[in-house]
Amino acid sequence: MKAKSAVVTGGAGFLGSHLCDKLISEGMRVICLDNLLTGRVENIQHLIPNENFQFIKFDVTNYIHVPGKVDYVLHFASPASPIDYLKYPIQTLKVGSLGTHKVLGLAKEKNATFLLASTSEVYGDPLIHPQSEEYWGNVNPVGPRGVYDEAKRFAEALTMAYHRYHGLDTRIVRIFNTYGTRMRIDDGRALPAFISQALHGDDITVFGDGSQTRSFCYVGDLIDGIFKLLLSNEVMPVNIGNPNEITIEEFALEVIRLTNSKSKIVHQELPVDDPKVRQPDISRAREILGWEPKVSREEGLKRTLEYFKKSQK
Ligand code: UDP
Repeated sequence: MKAKSAVVTGGAGFLGSHLCDKLISEGMRVICLDNLLTGRVENIQHLIPNENFQFIKFDVTNYIHVPGKVDYVLHFASPASPIDYLKYPIQTLKVGSLGTHKVLGLAKEKNATFLLASTSEVYGDPLIHPQSEEYWGNVNPVGPRGVYDEAKRFAEALTMAYHRYHGLDTRIVRIFNTYGTRMRIDDGRALPAFISQALHGDDITVFGDGSQTRSFCYVGDLIDGIFKLLLSNEVMPVNIGNPNEITIEEFALEVIRLTNSKSKIVHQELPVDDPKVRQPDISRAREILGWEPKVSREEGLKRTLEYFKKSQK
């Protein structure tokens, strides 16, 4: 049988590159499209010699032509850390709207299965806790985070329209906070910021009083869940994340302990519309995919710390 082919947009990013690795390891041929706005060639350098892998520097808000058969199209292109999407608000809105339209068009042309990387940000600053897929969310469309949240909400709506109107086979994964190797140390997220500050002995910048919560999933677990979703026949959105919730203050202390750092915590202003709580309800993923995360935060943080130490040398 001929190998399956996949197109991964944003394939040179943190999650996209891990996804390319997974698809290649499952025997697929992978075409990676990325305009390198926030992605990096070094994330996929090891795949470039592989004859089943092809990288094309490309902005997916433009018409996409890919020759030959394509079985899967996975849309992961987007700035994704708050600092990145505040720096590139228009690009974020464009890739979530125009980009999703073009990538869905490619999937339709190839009669491929389409998977959208959506986000827990569709729940905004949630009034329901933990967040299950039935919750419609609490998003401020005109706040600074709206550029990402609304782009992803639009992308979900467009995906469902292609499914309902064109009969396209689609999947939507709502990704909760994820960490691990290939995160950019300067992407502004709490985890790389805290690790970098702890390693340099700088103050650890906790925003607000640190009582806001997040639930961090190790990248390997996340990718396993996404792959299972891709091979399932579930069209409705599925949360993938780790339900183990922690306050940001406690998380900062955990990083200080892990790194044996002398850094002190300082408090800075809380960004506008920063969600106060976040924890995925993963009942659907458990039931439908038989998936749940396996890597503890302690183990995941150790692996990530090693990566940051090496990449700083
Ligand atoms: N945060 C922080 N210090 C930092 C970066 C982030 O206290 O240097 C907080 C941020 O305000 C949020 C949480 O940590 O409450 C997680 O932020 P992150 O940027 O990692 O992602 P988010 O979950 O907000 O998308």
